Formats: sequence, C-alpha cells, structure tokens
Amino acid sequence: VILEHRLADPDGEDRGSEGEVAVFTLYGHLSRASIRDLARGQAFEAGDPIAGVGETSENGGWWPHLHFQLMVDLLDQVGDFPGVAPPDERLAWRSACPDPNRILRLPSAVLGDKPTQATELRARRARVLGPSLSLSYRDPLHIVRGEGAELIDADGRRYLDLVNNVCQVGHCHPRVARAAARQMAVLNTNTRYLHDSILDYAERLLATFPDPLAVCFFVNSGSEANDLALRLARTATGRRDIVCVDAAYHGNLTSLIEISPYKHDGPGGQGPPPWVHVAPLPDVYRGRHRGADAAQRYAASVTDTVGRAAAGGDGVAAFIAESLLGCGGQIELPAGYLDAAYRAVRADGGVAIADEVQVGFARLGSHFWGFESQGVVPDIVTLGKPIGNGHPLGAVVTTRAIADAFANGMEYFNTFGGNPVSCAIGLAVLDVIAEEGLQNHAGLVGDRLLRGLRELRDRHSFVGDVRGRGLFLGIELVAPGSASDPAPDAELASFVVERLKERRFLLSTDGPDHNVIKIKPPLVIGAEDADRFLAALARTLGEIERAG
Ligand code: PMP
Repeated sequence: VILEHRLADPDGEDRGSEGEVAVFTLYGHLSRASIRDLARGQAFEAGDPIAGVGETSENGGWWPHLHFQLMVDLLDQVGDFPGVAPPDERLAWRSACPDPNRILRLPSAVLGDKPTQATELRARRARVLGPSLSLSYRDPLHIVRGEGAELIDADGRRYLDLVNNVCQVGHCHPRVARAAARQMAVLNTNTRYLHDSILDYAERLLATFPDPLAVCFFVNSGSEANDLALRLARTATGRRDIVCVDAAYHGNLTSLIEISPYKHDGPGGQGPPPWVHVAPLPDVYRGRHRGADAAQRYAASVTDTVGRAAAGGDGVAAFIAESLLGCGGQIELPAGYLDAAYRAVRADGGVAIADEVQVGFARLGSHFWGFESQGVVPDIVTLGKPIGNGHPLGAVVTTRAIADAFANGMEYFNTFGGNPVSCAIGLAVLDVIAEEGLQNHAGLVGDRLLRGLRELRDRHSFVGDVRGRGLFLGIELVAPGSASDPAPDAELASFVVERLKERRFLLSTDGPDHNVIKIKPPLVIGAEDADRFLAALARTLGEIERAG
C-alpha cells in the first residue's frame, strides 16, 4: 500500500496544488485480508488504521513485520515501488527515499547502516585511538551488522566470515541476544550474593570436562583466564618458571606477553624473562624436525626443554600450550606431544595448562575440547573467545586440589566475572551448541573443506601444506619451486586474503612467518558456504598460477 500525503510546502514554493507538496509512504508485508477492501484513491484521516501486518505464511516466510518506506517522488511508478536496491545505487535511491527514521524515530542502533564513511572513520580513529591498534585489509571494511556466518558492511554487502572463532554459534545469534537482554533487564551484579545462574552455568560447563577437572573460576577474557591460570599454578607449586611453546600467543597482559614468543620475540618485543623457557614449535611441515620420526623428536624436544628448565632453577610451575596452535600457524600437534609434555612437567612437580581459548567449544568436531584429541587431561584449562559468543567472558577450570591450594587467605575477587548476564549468555551458548548439533556439523563441514583444500594443494605447488581439524584449518603458502625446503611466502598469502575479500570472503594470515591462511569460521557455516568459498579460492589460486 502506498499513501500519498499532502503537506504544506515548508519553503512556501508552489510545487503542488495550492501550496502543498506530496510525499509518499509505502507499507509492505501486509495481511491480504486487511487490504482486500482498500480502493485506489481512498482517503484516510490521521490516526485511521490502514491495514494489518501479515503472518509468516502469507509473507514469503518472513517473520511478521512491516516494510516502511518514505518516498519524495514515485518516479512514474504506478501501483508499486522498489523496496530494495543494489548498494552501488544507494546514493540515487537515497535521494528519492529519505531515511524513514525521520518518522519512525527508532533508536539509531536498530538501523545501524549508515553509508560507508571509511575515510572519515579512519581519521577519527587516528585522532582518538592508540596507533598500535591495527585494521584488517588494505582498504578496511566498515562492518555494521552480523548474521550467522556473515558480516554485512555499511553498503549492505555480505561477506562470509571464515575467521571469527569468537561468534561460535553465529553472529548475533537471536537466542544469545535474547538471553543477554532478558537478564540485563532483571539483575546484573557481582558474585557476592547467592544466585542460581552462576551455579547452573558452572555445573553445565563442568559436565563437558573429564575428571578431575571439577572447579570453575569466571573471568572476562582469555587473557584474564591465562593470567589466573598462571597464578593458580604458581600458588599451588610455590614456583615461578613457565615452559611455553615457540610462536605461542596467550594474551595481552604483562604476565602473558612474557610467555608469548609471538609477542616478546616479534616487533617491539624484548625477549622472554629468565623464568620463561621456550620449547621448539612442533611444526612437522617446515619446523626443525620433519619426516617420519618428527613426532617422537618433538616429544623428546619438549621433554628436554622442561628438563633443562627444571635443572636450571627452582623447578617449573607449569607447562602451557594451546591444544592446537593458533598464532603458531594453525598447527595440529604431533601425536603424543601433549602427553610427553604433561608427563615431563608433572614428573618435575609442575602442572599442565591447556589454553583452549581458540580451539575449544566443539570447534574440532571430533571432540568438544582440543586436549581430548591428544588423549590427555590437563590440570588447568583456560577458556575465552567462543565461550560468550562475543560477550566478554572467560573461565578457568581446574582440579579441587589446585583450587584449594589457591585459597591461601588472599581473596580472589573479580568485579564482572561470573555476573548473571555473562552466565545467562554462557548457558545460551552451550544450549545452542547442543541443540543445533554444532559439534557434529563442525566435523562434517570441516572435512568437506579439508578435502577441497587438499585437492587445491595437489594442483598448486605454492600451496605447501593444508592442515587442521574440524573448523580450525590452515593453508600454508610457500614460494613456488621450493618444495624440498619450503620457503614461506607471506606476500602471496596476503594477496590471496585481499583477493578473497574482494570476492566477499573474510580470512586472515598467521604463523611466525605470516604465510598461513587461517580458517576458523562460526560453527554455523553451511556446506554450501564451504563450497562457495572453495570455488572462489580455486579461481584465485588459478589466477596466481596463470600469472606465474
Ligand atoms: N589465548 C589464545 C590462544 C588466544 O588466541 C588469545 C587471543 N587471541 C588469548 C589467549 C587472549 O584472549 P583475549 O584476547 O580474549 O584476552
């Protein structure tokens, strides 16, 4: 239904009849019954009902809603008017269809789709934010909305997000958003009062862990989780030294830069402090050990690092590693690696910490937690990123003995950790993973991607290695013709990432040489999405092949 409104001309110009101007409003997705008796030219007074909103069944499968549009000119259309337009024609259509919020007055966040002002936003960013904060892509994206496995930019372009392992159950999952909004409107306070939600959540979370992992601490980020894990290990053992893995990243706090070679050995870094001992990166493709016995050699190398650390000082408090390596380059650990490391550190009286911030919560398909894929049980597990589907939440799960040892008289208090809103969100995330079968789905789509990627590796010599598990995959790009001793090609990797962005797929690079393309999408990515991506990647790699 399109209504014509006659308004007094604010400029006093006589454009319509008798000093009036016409504007038009369009109402779509109405119920058929409510418009049956309307007639062309029928007049309404302000406040008269016009029509009713249609049910899903008569509404193209959409939820009942109103399409409301404002037009200053009908552009000679009769009986209809375009309700959507391509982003590239935005300016033209905006001139005929002003912002309907001038009338609706919805909170502006509901609209959220201002046209791209990338240059202006970058200038404002440079003025008010610290310059150590980087942006992705040569021409950064202005993203205003997320839905499922897609991000949508200010011009309405949809990008398949292959790199966000935070929004695990999909961007802005309605169930998670509802849980947050509902609890936010009722109560949000700290954990010094009795409340069900933290207990419901702790019980549900612990049910996903093997014995003897039986106690939770709630924090607000992966970094806070790892920092608390270090404190737990150090208090329980009375020691300070830590063994970590080369190229690892464990978070942005001072204590974690110390155990993150990715940072302290990178630009601006100052190396590890004396109490941090770094085991070689267990990379069987391009690392120091390759070939048939690489797994045993890496197991021996981590045992050796722990042994030397223990012999050189006051003993090791903890060995910490991700269960599959993220910043290290999407590396699945060689069989027996964590078992060797955990045995070595425990033999010395230390504890084993598994950083599951990136790989946990069903991402691997085969297992809910990454450490399970190595057949080990850590003493402390740290959780972050996907735990709150984008809400700042983290957790540490440990044994009763370590938790009790930590209770040495100093209270542990965390203002926001474990608040009712965070716990409602955490519970909703666990519900969605279970009810939507996302663990199994991650395994199926991950296998599909891995098969396609292996075909591409077999076709192109510069695709050196394809690896990973479930929806945690990596593609390592190397200089053409360097197969016997592959040389990293970061430039090629970043070219592929930029080219795929133009094709509307979001990826990024990692690894110590920045030549590994990482794939770690929201778990709700569909099989058709995976096929679309493989086809676009195949075209891109073909272009590189042809260009030589
Ligand atoms: N551990 C790992 C393995 C991570 O990848 C990260 C973040 N990239 C962190 C810890 C820190 O998490 P956050 O940024 O939420 O503090």
